Amino acid sequence: MLVALVILIAECQATAQTNPPLYIYSTIDALLAGTYDGDLTIRELGAKGNFGIGTYNRLDGELLALDGVFYHALANGSVVVAGPQEKTPLAYVTWFHPTQSFSPENSLPLPEFDKWLDAHLKNLNLFYAIRIDGTFRDVSVRAIEPQSKPYKELASIVKTQSIHDYPTTRGTLIGLRSPAFSNGISVPGYHWHYLTDDHLHGGHVLKLILIKGNVRVETISAIDLQLPKNDAFANADQTKDRTSEIKLVEGK
Ligand SMILES: [Zn+2]
Repeated sequence: MLVALVILIAECQATAQTNPPLYIYSTIDALLAGTYDGDLTIRELGAKGNFGIGTYNRLDGELLALDGVFYHALANGSVVVAGPQEKTPLAYVTWFHPTQSFSPENSLPLPEFDKWLDAHLKNLNLFYAIRIDGTFRDVSVRAIEPQSKPYKELASIVKTQSIHDYPTTRGTLIGLRSPAFSNGISVPGYHWHYLTDDHLHGGHVLKLILIKGNVRVETISAIDLQLPKNDAFANADQTKDRTSEIKLVEGK
């Protein structure tokens, strides 16, 4: 009996170790509603994972976490390493332990690549963290200038985004696939951020073609959702269906 219990505990620990949760700070609907200031620092976020995506306070550019380094993609297209005291209003991170890897045989533009990847994932009702190191063509990334109060809703300011194009580049895609039922908390489907090999350029991906690359995937079956306790989150209108706003904002 004792032996069985010990084995059970060991199995639970093994499962926990091989399947870390997705840590989520705030909700996509709060961001869409104009909640651009969070209380979570990059130092605190770094204790929750080494891989992921998000944005920074005042909606200042894009957040990319890769190998434990938190990068800040600015509206001018450049990327710097974020300071530990910078804060985020929305982030998704995990401890990246890929369990599957594949390489597409043909080059694929993004919508087709998403479908190709869907066909390789076993359970589309789970979350997936995805890392792709490779060569890309016609990459378009965006980042948004920091906003000033009073903040406007995201759909009304996304037209001011700065877009940067890279004809051919080597780099890393940092992606999250969220199931349809997570609408409101995350972006259903794929959400990609891109970082060039030299870590000097990148942002939120609007379009690209994957020429060749190594796709590594981690299946995530647990989420750790932290909701901000500040007034901005309390006052964000999260009662309406913002599906069409997500499509506009995410460039889908
Ligand atoms: Zn993004």
